[in-house]
Amino acid sequence: MFDSLSDRLTDTFDKLRGKGKLTEDDINVAMREIRMALLEADVNFRVVKDFVARCKQRCLTADILSSLTPAQNVVKVVLDELTELLGSSESKLTLMQNRTPNVIMLVGLQGSGKTTAAAKLAYMLKKQGRSPELAACDTHRPAAADQLETLGGEIGVPVYRGDGKDAVAIAGQAVRDAIDHLRDVVIVDTAGRLQIDELMMQEAVDIKRAVKPDQVLMVVDAMTGQDIVNVVTEFAERTDFDGVIMSKLDGDARGGGALSVRAVTGKPIKFVSMGEKPDSLEVFHPDRMAKRILG
Ligand code: GDP
Repeated sequence: MFDSLSDRLTDTFDKLRGKGKLTEDDINVAMREIRMALLEADVNFRVVKDFVARCKQRCLTADILSSLTPAQNVVKVVLDELTELLGSSESKLTLMQNRTPNVIMLVGLQGSGKTTAAAKLAYMLKKQGRSPELAACDTHRPAAADQLETLGGEIGVPVYRGDGKDAVAIAGQAVRDAIDHLRDVVIVDTAGRLQIDELMMQEAVDIKRAVKPDQVLMVVDAMTGQDIVNVVTEFAERTDFDGVIMSKLDGDARGGGALSVRAVTGKPIKFVSMGEKPDSLEVFHPDRMAKRILG
């Protein structure tokens, strides 16, 4: 992930470092290269335009051009702006202390990694001393409940399956089951489709209305590139959500989606998933990710 973007940016900065003093032209050339690198990483063009404009404006100040280490200052500007683009600070999962159980609902397209993310989140919360329960409300994909049950078995977290195909009813029953069994967080896995469709959206809206989740998280596959933006925007309009779990960051995606999503939708990335194992979910730190991208 981000490998090619990192290489391109490192090249640009190396060239600047080799120059010593920098002119306005040097900055313009560097900014053009940064713009190309971001576009090739499939970052949304509007995001790229604003990003480069902000960097350029800051880099062209007399302070930076006449400083003793102008190249280093340019890198610092790009690092700051990249951190800002990714969300500036860590966005915590806010759970209510006085509501039992807390409900977290996951939405997203089929194959985005929702079911595995539900189990990973349950595992993370369990390690933090919580007693989560998983609710299998993806009644459209026949194997989803079995998959969740297997994952729940692996991490020692109960899975509520219910009967039938009424996902809204199952979600409500799961919350009551959690109350009966003193579980303090219910993680609701919902159905996705290959593409957004009306039925899926309506079901998500109905589940949300029925269980009033404390947090709705959208699971987004990092491999989707800047198309992510369309998908996420449509979800935001219909079900609204509080943040994103970016999955499959261990893949060789160019990273455009991850870099675009916050700026375009205003929704923070809260977690990233770096693999298929239960412990591969991590809290997202924009500053660390920005540093990683700049190498
Ligand atoms: P759902 O349809 O949204 O519930 O998607 P699943 O949870 O079934 O995930 C789809 C596929 O992606 C499965 O094979 C998962 O093991 C895989 N997957 C999910 N998250 C990750 C991840 O972070 N990294 C990798 N490499 N694979 C993942």
